Amino acid sequence: MDNCIFCMIANGQIPSTSVYEDEDFKVVFDIAPAAKGHLLILPKAHADNVCDLSEETAAKIMPLAAKLGSAQMKALGAKGFNIVVNTGEAAGQTVMHCHTHVIPRYEGEAPIVANWAQGSYADGEAASIAQAIVKAL
Ligand code: AMP
Ligand code: ZN
Repeated sequence: MDNCIFCMIANGQIPSTSVYEDEDFKVVFDIAPAAKGHLLILPKAHADNVCDLSEETAAKIMPLAAKLGSAQMKALGAKGFNIVVNTGEAAGQTVMHCHTHVIPRYEGEAPIVANWAQGSYADGEAASIAQAIVKAL
């Protein structure tokens, strides 16, 4: 897609620090890392977000993310990693080319990524919300 920064990076029109590439993906360093070694998996074919990815491409992302996270643990001494896909502006997506963050986590760091306030449901609320989701599937 014209004027898409991640299309240009994924297809080599803009140089990047890359750790992996195959026919479907390029994996690059995030320019403003949440932690040292923060990676972005960029599909080479443009999709605005995860909902627009082909099932075939989507199915390849989780195994690749696990492989990259394992390498972060082995090579960088990370003790874990977060796999994050922000979808839509309300969820914090700022670049509208689907990408998967693989963020290494080091001992002693605050859990900055998955650290939401724990909520609750009123009586019957969970059941009606579940029903709405089931209807939409
Ligand atoms: P998101 O908020 O999930 O859309 O994440 C977008 C990510 O892309 C952010 O973490 C940015 O730091 C990163 N980013 C933006 N521009 C570039 C770029 N030119 N090269 C590498 N990473 C980038
Ligand atoms: Zn794109």
